[in-house]
Amino acid sequence: MKEKIVSVFPAVQHRHADGEIISVTLRRKNGEYSAECHGCQTRFRYQKPRPASRRYFKSPVLPEIKGNFDGGDE
Ligand SMILES: [Zn+2]
Repeated sequence: MKEKIVSVFPAVQHRHADGEIISVTLRRKNGEYSAECHGCQTRFRYQKPRPASRRYFKSPVLPEIKGNFDGGDE
């Protein structure tokens, strides 16, 4: 069985050779989350995303505040 590291949770979607999209659900086992797909003989192991991707950036969704009123960000 092959092994693949994934960082999605709790369901892992992947494509089989015949083009079918298969979804397997991660289950906790021996302190880690994993899922096995017998269709393609692959074991998916969950690993948290790297810390770098967790850095907080100012939300780009918030509109810029102009004028003299209190924007609450200083
Ligand atoms: Zn599969």
